[in-house]
Amino acid sequence: MSTLTSKFPRQPVIFCDFDGTITLSDNIIAAMKHFNPPGWESIGMGILNESITIQEGVGQLFSLFPSSMKDEVKEYIINNAGIRKGFPELLEWCKTHNVPFYVTSGGIDFFIYPLLEPFGIPADHIYCNGSDFSGDNITITWPHSCDDKCDNGCGMCKTAVIRRFSTDEFYRILIGDSVTDFAGAKLVDLVFSRSHLTDKCIELNLPHIPFETFHDVIHHLDTGGQRS
Ligand SMILES: [Mg+2]
Ligand SMILES: [Zn+2]
Repeated sequence: MSTLTSKFPRQPVIFCDFDGTITLSDNIIAAMKHFNPPGWESIGMGILNESITIQEGVGQLFSLFPSSMKDEVKEYIINNAGIRKGFPELLEWCKTHNVPFYVTSGGIDFFIYPLLEPFGIPADHIYCNGSDFSGDNITITWPHSCDDKCDNGCGMCKTAVIRRFSTDEFYRILIGDSVTDFAGAKLVDLVFSRSHLTDKCIELNLPHIPFETFHDVIHHLDTGGQRS
């Protein structure tokens, strides 16, 4: 056993959000602000204040775009997304210490796979929503929607992924920033949080460590995930 895993009560496993976490800002919101399709703001607000489900909201947001805008939307997101500092180093750290790393994202395949391509994460370690451009408007598909233990309307159900790793065996760590992380944050042993997720963790009194870069995350993981 490595010195690291002896610092954790059980084998650590990491579930990491994409939009606003691996990337500097939320790519869906950035695209909406840029193209500004009429009606997006009230849908976005509804998702954030949890008056509509994430699945309903994200589906509605993308349906505001005709499928003919596929390349334009994709290129805008890919060209404008920045990767948060320390991300490659965190992946390296996980490899070194044999800590499984999963991307658990409420975002969409057509921008997530290209943006993650340089980092060599196995495809079966990336969970996100799908997309269909065959109709008049962009349709989001849901290959990982909620199972019978979750009625949150997640779209991509982080809790279903997390629950596959039993608490007996795993020390479950979630890294995230916002509303797509709220349900998962309630399940895990430790949350690394930014932005709205930090507020939610304070509100619900969940164990969390606010972070800015993935170097901060590595620092805390090196010390067994405890506050220091
Ligand atoms: Mg996010
Ligand atoms: Zn769910």
